[in-house]
Amino acid sequence: SYAEDIPQLSVRWRAEQAPSPFLVATNDALAGELGIEPGFLRSPEGLSFLSGQLPDAADGGAATYAQAYSGHQFGQFNPQLGDGRALLIGEVIDRAGDRRDLHLKGTGRTPFSRSGDGKAPLGPMLREYLVGEAMHALGIPTTRGLGVVLTGQEVMRRGREPGAIFTRVAASHLRVGTFQFAAVHRPMEVRRALADYAIARHWPAAADAENPYLELLRSVTHAQAELIAQWMLVGFVHGVMNTDNMTISGEGIDYGPCAFIDTFRRASVFSSIDQTGRYAYRNQPAIGLWNLSRFAETLVDLIDASDPDAAVESLTQVLYEFEPAYDAAVARGMAAKLGIGLPEPEAENGSEALGQIRAFTERTLDLLEAQEADFTLFFRALTAGTPEELIHDDDALGSWSAERDELLQRWSGGAADVALMQRSNPVYIPRNHHLESALQRAEGGDLDDFHRLLAAVRDPFRQRPEWAGLEGPGEASSAFVTFCG
Ligand code: AMP
Ligand code: MG
Ligand code: MG
Repeated sequence: SYAEDIPQLSVRWRAEQAPSPFLVATNDALAGELGIEPGFLRSPEGLSFLSGQLPDAADGGAATYAQAYSGHQFGQFNPQLGDGRALLIGEVIDRAGDRRDLHLKGTGRTPFSRSGDGKAPLGPMLREYLVGEAMHALGIPTTRGLGVVLTGQEVMRRGREPGAIFTRVAASHLRVGTFQFAAVHRPMEVRRALADYAIARHWPAAADAENPYLELLRSVTHAQAELIAQWMLVGFVHGVMNTDNMTISGEGIDYGPCAFIDTFRRASVFSSIDQTGRYAYRNQPAIGLWNLSRFAETLVDLIDASDPDAAVESLTQVLYEFEPAYDAAVARGMAAKLGIGLPEPEAENGSEALGQIRAFTERTLDLLEAQEADFTLFFRALTAGTPEELIHDDDALGSWSAERDELLQRWSGGAADVALMQRSNPVYIPRNHHLESALQRAEGGDLDDFHRLLAAVRDPFRQRPEWAGLEGPGEASSAFVTFCG
């Protein structure tokens, strides 16, 4: 539908032939959601499919496409990005009736490759796969992997690495950068068709609003505020929040140099290319709003070409909704992490309880930072009733606990809701050192550690003896660095 409805935003293109494709991982649960027989993915036809060797349209197959987009990369506008190593191979209507994109990453050069080789190494593709599965298990909106195959070809990165292709499933691949591309390179009718397509596909209720394009911005603004709040609540640092990596659907996408924080610091940044810390943990909400502002700019003359000042004013008013929506989402999530089961009206945006819990969130982060506590372990210890295992300063813990007790008294009948905490505070996240060493082993051909970590992050809330060792940070990790794949 994307290529047919808005043909001016993609180029028909075929995958390169992988010399000897070999199946590394398939996602049976996701295949089930999509109505794809898991056995199919492991068949020879399935392998052809996951490696991009699809029958051409002329032979009764479907055409495949490289999508065009622009984007602000680290704040600099690049008008010409696009799928430089990826292809949209189709759409499926899943069992829930939702349209999902199937997309291959690592299929060779396209007209958008610039100086890139169009390839992807195994490690980063397995990383993207595992992080997507972790996000999904944590209840955070995300794109997901359907499979990973080796191509049989090496790619040059930090050395020779095995080449791979990753199959990504997404609500769509519409990005802020897609709108930026249309705004810079395409006439009004294409831009309108893109906005209408996004509304119909993701935010159909917006079509009935007085101003559908304003409502589109509102929908994306609230979805992104919620998404980024969820990231903050699990200590996730995306690492490349460029506008081409922000979706219109509100799903997280493109888990490249991302990482989960161990020892908590708001300034945490892991990516080797993020020299200034633009995408540090603490900057993520502000960057989210900055990106949404770039999105809003692409909508100005769709809103009202005859009065751009008025259009800018109404778009700006919608952008002002980001911060309260973000604050409310953080407070709701933090309430659950702290065991505060809020009564219905107090869980509504703007409530007094959420205001207090939002303030206490910063207080809690101050404590974790000052005590150099592991973010994830702290909330699990709190769930177990033993926060002193992580916070060794009795006075600091005492005064923090007294404030939490007051919140529990006031909003939640006194005692912490332990069951709520257990399903809100994960034991297993993709910790840097565990993930890195699992990926290194996978590159050497041994996938056991990878599958063990994958199983743990897919079932993150229940501690299990067979995953012993995966719940802590492993080696000291403050100097951990991630690289783009
Ligand atoms: P990313 O930062 O991963 O979102 O990618 C930014 C842009 O670089 C996108 O247009 C990608 O398609 C492109 N890109 C990344 N890696 C490669 C590669 N190895 N070959 C060609 N294009 C690439
Ligand atoms: Mg990207
Ligand atoms: Mg990437």
